[in-house]
Parts: sequence; C-alpha cells; structure tokens
Amino acid sequence: MRTIESLGSLSAKTVIVRCDLNVPLADGVITDDGRIRASLATVTELREAGAKIVLISHLGRPKGEPEARFSLRPVAERMSELLGAPVQFVGETVGEAATAAAAALQGGEVLLLENLRFNPGETSKDDAERAAFAQQLAALGDVFVSDGFGVVHRRQASVYELAKLLPSAAGRLVAAELEVLERLTERAERPYAVVLGGSKVSDKLGVISHLIERVDTLLIGGGMLFTFLAAQGHRVGASLLEADQLDTVRGYLATAAERGVEIVLPSDVVVAEAFAADAAHEVVAADAIESSAFGAAGIGLDIGPASAQRFAEVIAESRTVFWNGPMGVFEMPAFANGTRTVADALTKTAGFTVVGGGDSAAAVRALGFTDDQFGHISTGGGASLEFLEGKQLPGLEVLA
Ligand code: ADP
Ligand code: MG
Repeated sequence: MRTIESLGSLSAKTVIVRCDLNVPLADGVITDDGRIRASLATVTELREAGAKIVLISHLGRPKGEPEARFSLRPVAERMSELLGAPVQFVGETVGEAATAAAAALQGGEVLLLENLRFNPGETSKDDAERAAFAQQLAALGDVFVSDGFGVVHRRQASVYELAKLLPSAAGRLVAAELEVLERLTERAERPYAVVLGGSKVSDKLGVISHLIERVDTLLIGGGMLFTFLAAQGHRVGASLLEADQLDTVRGYLATAAERGVEIVLPSDVVVAEAFAADAAHEVVAADAIESSAFGAAGIGLDIGPASAQRFAEVIAESRTVFWNGPMGVFEMPAFANGTRTVADALTKTAGFTVVGGGDSAAAVRALGFTDDQFGHISTGGGASLEFLEGKQLPGLEVLA
C-alpha cells in the first residue's frame, strides 16, 4: 500500500486528509476523544512537512443534509487543544466558503471542513453521485491521504472515489492499524483467543466462520450469546435473539467441533427484570434463564461471574487475544462486571491484546482502563472485523 512518502515533497501542497473524527457526543460535549487523538500522528507529520492541511470527516449518521447536532465544530476545538495549534473550521464541506478557506491556507496550517454526510453524495448508492461529490472534494487540494481507518470498509465518496482522483496514500493511522491486523491474520502467536460480544449480532456472525479456521478458542458474550444458547435448544426469555440465525450458529458449533476449536459459551448469566439501570436482577445458569424470578420476561444483560472468571482464565493462557464487543450492557453499572473482568484480564495477560470496536474502546476507557494497558486499541470496529473476515476493503484496495 502506498504510504505518505510516495507523495513526494508536501511543502506548500494542499493535502486533503480523510480522518475518522466520529466521536461520541453528549449535549455537544465530546465524551471520548480517542479518535481525535488517533488522527494526530498524520496531522502533526504533515504540519512538520509544511503542508496545507484540509481535514474531512463524518460524524454520526445525518441523512445527507445539515443537522446541527452532528456538526464537527466541537471536534475542531478539541483537536486544536490536542495539537497545540489552531484548527480552523468552516461550516460547509464544499462550496465557496470551503474553497476560499482552503485556498487561504499557509504551509503548516490546518482546516477542518463540516461533516461530509451533510452532503447526499458522500454515501449515495449511485456511483455517479458519489463521483460528482468526490470531484468537488478533489478540487480543494493537490493530494489525498486516507487516514480514516473506521471507514475504509465503506465504498463512499471521500474514502473510495476521492482516492482515485488525486495522488493518494495511506496515512499513519491506517498503516498502523493494518500492521496490527496483519499480525493477527498472518503471524498470530498461539494460543489465539477471540472474545466476541456487543449487540450487532448478525453483523458479527460473519467473522465467526472465518475465525473458526484460525483461532484456538472463541469466547462468546454480549447480545450474541443468546442466539448461541437458543441454537443449543435453551430458552432465553426476553434476551436479544436473532431467530433467523439459529441454523447458521448451529453450523458454526458443528464446524468448530470438527476442527477442534473451542467455543466457550457462558455457564451463567445476569438476568434482569427490565432493560434499565435499576432493574432487579439475579445470576442464573445459562441453560435455565427462564428459571429466574422474572420467568420468560427476564432479559440477559451480562455474563455471570463464573463465566467471566472462565473467560479471564482463557485470556491469561493466550498469546494473542482479539476482543470486539462488550460482554454486557456496560453503560449500566449493574451489568458492567463481565466487561470489566474481561478488560482486566486483557491488561494482565502476557499475550498481545487488541481491542476493536467503537463501543468496546469506549467501554474500556469508561471503566477506567487506559490505552497503554492494551497492545492496541483499534479505531475501527466494522473495518477490523471485515479485515479479519478476509474481505477486500474498498478504501484499502484503492491505495494499493
Ligand atoms: P462495538 O461498537 O464495540 O463493535 P457493538 O456496537 O456491537 O460493539 O455493541 C455495543 C453494545 O452492545 C453496547 O451498547 C452494549 O450495551 C450492548 N450489549 C452488550 N451486551 C448486551 C446484551 N446482553 N443485551 C443487549 N445489549 C447488549
Ligand atoms: Mg458499536
């Protein structure tokens, strides 16, 4: 893949950098600035090279038109603090003001444009619409650096089409993320354990068929564990369940057994009366969820303490651990214990550990862990999973 070196001298050149500055916001305040921090390496290097820097990003999922709550303005402020240098902001992505601001940049200066997804062309299903928007973006600069790792699996105008219109290369974050993922796919030390959880069950099931070929142990927690329990014939009350995936999951269990890959399912679960922080809850055996006081109305919101302990033991014995997806509804303290125990085990194992996924990364930070306690915290959940699935990622293909 082409790196920044391939672009030659960048002094006084206008470099458009696609970042992933999609940070979580609560009432306009950034609650986790991990993705801004992760973008600094490339921006700093380009500043030192004397480039004029135009940053572009999306934030949230606006539907192709401006929506104040998805403005990148607070991100410009935070980035400026972290960078120790001004970051100008323009309230549009393309247009007269954006063009004028980009043209006025001096070497080493940084400009952030407004949310790409305020423009329908960014995520349009129509190839021509995306290409037309990419043309407008390309007109703002001389070269393109792709550094939004969280979006490299998307065929979107600023990720894919734009890279074809200008001399382009991967930024430092994308390069660093790929190095870690290659270590996981090509050079993983055994035993290799993967911990899967979270709520996007059907999104994540795909990665399992691929991982069964490569790992020694799969630990299943989070929302997807109930589809596994149901596939084994157990009743799961009102827990998250993807009924149309039962046969797929039975297939995974059979393949894993044939290949000698261990799929560890929780033996106990925290079941709650309702999906609420203060809901009554109790620990029950995973194969008897409806035996709780809440019967068929009970909702499984975390793995139980015995399961968390078992997961921690497997992690302690592993040389490589990849983790995606919280073990429970960690946002509610009563259901954060499984996630905390798994995170803690990752910080203690001698093995190489990678945490992928927006909510997983936010979870470890919210629980008081720091980035340096892990081998790597990836900025891209979907992108890293698709890479591990062995899929071709459009945003990387175009940089080859
Ligand atoms: P990531 O962003 O790390 O890939 P996901 O987006 O798939 O993770 O899932 C994160 C969400 O999963 C969290 O908001 C968490 O509350 C939720 N979750 C975890 N376990 C459960 C469960 N048992 N039932 C419902 N939601 C769950
Ligand atoms: Mg998520």
